[in-house]
Amino acid sequence: MPYNIFVCAKQVPDTADITGEAMKADGTINRAALPAIFNPDDHNALELGLSLRDRYGGEVTVITMGPPRAADILRDSLQRGADGVVLLTDRGFAVADTLATSYTLAKAIERAGGADVVLCGRQAIDGDTAQIGPQLAGRLGIGQITYVTEVLSLGNGRVQARRLIQGGVETVEACLPVLMTVTSEANEPRPPRAKLLMKYKKAKAPSELARELATRKDLPAEDAERKLNDMQRQLAQAGLLIAEWDGASIGADMERCGYVGSPTRVMKVESALLKQANQKSVAPSDEGLQQLVHELTKDHILG
Ligand SMILES: Cc1cc2nc3c(=O)[nH]c(=O)nc-3n(C[C@H](O)[C@H](O)[C@H](O)COP(=O)(O)OP(=O)(O)OC[C@H]3O[C@@H](n4cnc5c(N)ncnc54)[C@H](O)[C@@H]3O)c2cc1C
Repeated sequence: MPYNIFVCAKQVPDTADITGEAMKADGTINRAALPAIFNPDDHNALELGLSLRDRYGGEVTVITMGPPRAADILRDSLQRGADGVVLLTDRGFAVADTLATSYTLAKAIERAGGADVVLCGRQAIDGDTAQIGPQLAGRLGIGQITYVTEVLSLGNGRVQARRLIQGGVETVEACLPVLMTVTSEANEPRPPRAKLLMKYKKAKAPSELARELATRKDLPAEDAERKLNDMQRQLAQAGLLIAEWDGASIGADMERCGYVGSPTRVMKVESALLKQANQKSVAPSDEGLQQLVHELTKDHILG
């Protein structure tokens, strides 16, 4: 039986590449100062989706909620072999907490006709709450398996998976449809394929095209609209138009989306910096190492 697999992916600031301007004065993340990347765990979720499709048949659709530039991770997904992608973008979706994000993602998956398997990363490296997967399963009214490292079997309306627990691994079984959150231990994400890389680097979402045209001062407004329609038609014919849905097209109650639909307020973010009080050099010799072990043992760090 072919499976309808949805992968939720988030574009996040690269927190491994922190610069002095990473935080704003108010303690929030200065996203403009950090490169934007595919949330690492979501690459593992995508790889699991692609491998399930390859083993059992079906289609993988990657969905992201974010600004137009989040289309970058959708191009990446197509280049790794996703069958379809959806950009969920609307000014009213901005500054969403987990409650509003999971509501919006659920409305989009429902609009798409539902899924047999929904995959999320274990957590996003910017918000770090790991709440979206469980909340989304709750909103869709389906079962969930968190911290998945391996899917052992899929068939007869059931899935068997291994999940990480403290100090071990457990094997569990659930009915379909199911949502699974995927850990970084689950797999080694496949790289983009050369042929798909060339093809899908030209894929664009309508809002990206509109932004490009808005920078063209030479184009009168009425011509810009016609040009936009022409460009969309051409891309659609070539299979390169990224599907884009806003609040109206997924039938969302905008009072439950974005900032207005988000009860969470992050009051303050503090960065924990470990400052070294003093520094000691150790000679790269047996004697130096012995001295180091002795000091660590004396300070009760070792032993
Ligand atoms: C410092 C900081 C603290 C925050 N604290 C809170 C808080 O305490 N409570 C709160 O409600 N919000 C909080 N937020 C907001 C939070 O970033 C957003 O709610 C965000 O939309 C989703 O939460 P997350 O990033 O923690 O995702 P997680 O729950 O960690 O994400 C798990 C998975 O869900 C999927 N996913 C997440 N976001 C998207 C998306 N936009 N599109 C598609 N898939 C997605 C991905 O597969 C991801 O791997 C905070 C944000 C920051 C920057």
